[in-house]
Amino acid sequence: MHALRLLWLVLLSLLIAACAVVQRPVRSPDHPAVRELVDLRRSDPSLRFDVRYATTGNFTRERLYPVPAVWLHRDAAEALLRVQRDLRSEGLGLKIFDGYRPYHVQQRMWNLIRDERYVSNPAKNAGRHTRGTAVDVTLVDRQGRELSMPTAFDDFTESAHRNAAGIPARAKANSLRLEQAMARHGFIPYPYEWWHFDYRGWEQHPPLDVSLTGLSQPKSASDVAR
Ligand SMILES: [Zn+2]
Repeated sequence: MHALRLLWLVLLSLLIAACAVVQRPVRSPDHPAVRELVDLRRSDPSLRFDVRYATTGNFTRERLYPVPAVWLHRDAAEALLRVQRDLRSEGLGLKIFDGYRPYHVQQRMWNLIRDERYVSNPAKNAGRHTRGTAVDVTLVDRQGRELSMPTAFDDFTESAHRNAAGIPARAKANSLRLEQAMARHGFIPYPYEWWHFDYRGWEQHPPLDVSLTGLSQPKSASDVAR
C-alpha cells in the first residue's frame, strides 16, 4: 500500500514537472517559433493601428511596450489579411489594438488585474497573446472611424461579453459583423471580450518571451500574402 502511494506521488510530481516544462516560454530570438512571427505593420498599408500598450492610455496606465509594434504568427497574419480584404470590399476595415505580447508583459498585466476572464494567468496557461496567434481588433469605416461597439477596448465589464444583454442594436450588429468576418478565416471569438480573437490551433503554439524590440523580420514582408 505504501509503495503504491509513493508511486502515485512520483507520478503526480512528474506530471506537474511536465506541465511546468510545457508552460515555460521560449526566450531565444532565433527559435523557429519566434521566426514565424511577422510584422503586421509592414504587411498591408490599409490596416489601421492603435497600439494602446505602447502608450499610457491603457487600463494599466503604464507604458508596457517600448514600441507600437504588432507581430503575429505568419498563419494568423495571412488569415487576418484575408479578413481585411473581405471587409474592404464592403467599405470597412480592421483597426488593430494588439497582437503578440511578450510573456513578461503578460505577467505584469496579470499582476495588475488578476481576473482570468480578462487577463490570462501566466502560471496556468502562459497566456494567449504570448503565442502570436491572438489579436485584438475592431471595425473602422473607409475614413478610419471606429464603428460603435458594445464597449470601449479593454473595458473589463460584463458588457464586453459576447452574450451581454442590453447592448444597443447597432453596436451588437457591428460586433456580430466583426465576429463573422473573423470566424470566416479561422479566428475563434473569445466569449468575454468582443475585440479578442484566437487563431485556430493557438494552443499548439508555445508562449514566447522575446521583447518587441528583439524581433527581426526574417524575410520580406511581401512574403505575407496580400
Ligand atoms: Zn486580447
